[in-house]
Amino acid sequence: MEQRLEGKVALVTGASSGIGRSIAVRLCREGAAVGMNHLSDTDKGGAEEAVREVTDSGGRAVAIRGDVSKEDDAKRMVWEVVEEFGRIDVLVNNAGIENERPFLEMALEDWEKVLSVNLTGAFLMSREALRVMTGHGGGTVINVSSVHERIPWPNFAHYAATKGGLKMLTETLALEFAKRGVRVNAVAPGAIATPINKEKLDDPAKRAEVEKLVPWGRWGEPEEVAACVAFLASDEASYVTGATLFVDGGMALYPGFEAGGG
Ligand code: NAD
Repeated sequence: MEQRLEGKVALVTGASSGIGRSIAVRLCREGAAVGMNHLSDTDKGGAEEAVREVTDSGGRAVAIRGDVSKEDDAKRMVWEVVEEFGRIDVLVNNAGIENERPFLEMALEDWEKVLSVNLTGAFLMSREALRVMTGHGGGTVINVSSVHERIPWPNFAHYAATKGGLKMLTETLALEFAKRGVRVNAVAPGAIATPINKEKLDDPAKRAEVEKLVPWGRWGEPEEVAACVAFLASDEASYVTGATLFVDGGMALYPGFEAGGG
């Protein structure tokens, strides 16, 4: 594989499964040294496996435990990467959660939980990583948003609000750090086959229902998101900042699209 990220150091949050794991492995395969974050003992195995997968073939990676929504953890995780690999050039804010809640049944706790991981987590991790990046001349931040930064999502108001928030965080930081050598972008995945969608993927009818919403006619794979993140992380994207790259088989172009329709 092309070594576009040779010499770079990255930190990927939520790297123990799904999209985050694919991103972490891809960045490593392209030459980056990568801190692969996992939340707790429960998801430690996934991150450790990913680390083994890349180190066995000569890559450099380390598993980093921590909760992105906790200020002390966020700071420590960034500094663990700096201690291990000397710097940090790429931060991927991927950790995210969702839970279905009709709005009138949404407890404050539900709302705060989703906001704390998806949005506050990105704030805390970015602030610490940007302190390091600006100290050594620049870097890049990539936020994993969602088509739901654009498409409203009934019963997931908290989730959609965080992804809309991530869009403005991305654009605002892109402006605020443009003169300090930091590019800030986002990828917005559509329906990707990962554990977050287990219930739909396991049910053929629900699986097909989602496919009808995607002009390209199928679910996406985590590797397809990872490929876009690798591009944004590389110097090939040297003039790209403040952008959101939709990785969604066209889903956000035409919300509610029925495959085969007019
Ligand atoms: P996933 O459930 O496989 O991955 C989420 C990861 O985040 C897990 O590894 C989990 O342990 C980690 N995590 C959760 N809370 C955390 C915390 N407080 N601190 C650190 N890590 C934490 O799901 P995924 O589909 O791979 O989701 C990854 C990202 O992609 C999320 O931000 C999600 O919103 C976004 N996304 C996914 C899809 C999709 O269809 N799969 C679509 C759009 C956006």
